[in-house]
Amino acid sequence: MNILTSLSELRANLKYMSGSLGLVPTMGSLHEGHLSLVKAARMQNDNVAVSIFVNPIQFGPEEDLDIYPRNHDNDLDILQSEKVDIVWIPDVKEMYPDGYQTYVTVEKLSRYLEGARRPGHMRGVATIVTKLLIAFAPDRLYLGQKDAQQSCIIKRLVADLGFAIDVLICPTVRDIDGLALSSRNSRLNPDERKAAIVLYKSLSEAQTAFANGETDASRLRTLITDVIRIEKFAKLLYVSVSDINSLKELHYVSDRALCSIAVKIGSVVLIDNIVLEDS
Ligand code: AMP
Repeated sequence: MNILTSLSELRANLKYMSGSLGLVPTMGSLHEGHLSLVKAARMQNDNVAVSIFVNPIQFGPEEDLDIYPRNHDNDLDILQSEKVDIVWIPDVKEMYPDGYQTYVTVEKLSRYLEGARRPGHMRGVATIVTKLLIAFAPDRLYLGQKDAQQSCIIKRLVADLGFAIDVLICPTVRDIDGLALSSRNSRLNPDERKAAIVLYKSLSEAQTAFANGETDASRLRTLITDVIRIEKFAKLLYVSVSDINSLKELHYVSDRALCSIAVKIGSVVLIDNIVLEDS
């Protein structure tokens, strides 16, 4: 496994690579959710690259950039055992040299959900992913359904900018009690960890209601809100039942919808989503 930090090293390494390349971008502190992307990339490509970069421009001034979990030694052990070919761990100056001023914005899709809650976040995500796609020129890019809006935006930018890349979205990996795995879960204390189950519980109840014929989006939103309200450690930041492609809020769910929530548990904001679908 080649562990690289500079762009010039990365270019030199890629030059001698033959066969297809799958890229998994991450912010590190890896868990089974990330690993599911790495495993999918390993199965479908001759070469697998993982980037580890906590991207400062996708964090707002009041957000958790400084305390975002970082664990490079453990990450490298895990990636080594998954037979990853290249790990790129650039520093901030490598990605954003002095005087940096070029950004990518996916206009409409960035206005909803996390984009509305975190101004500039989706611009930061779109910019770093574009830079990674240019640096690696992979054949396939692996993303998680856990960050549904991010995945939607990146699919749009790949199409809009004409990158010849397949974008593959992998299902959300959950803990045994349903909590979606996230690097931020490590910041929950035991009581908060128990309370965090409420995210999946509320989404599951919406799914059951939809399966039983509830198609009114506002009633589905209310149902989720009511489940979360009961949990004293949880504060609902938003609930959305939206079109899966445009992310626009729906009045009624006809066949499919993306149901997304952001919930603050203690000081940690967690997001999760579920796709409501006619079975
Ligand atoms: P992050 O390190 O949080 O930026 O995530 C890197 C990639 O892993 C993104 O494409 C995420 O959507 C994906 N990911 C994070 N958590 C999960 C999960 N629980 N299941 C599947 N994919 C995930």
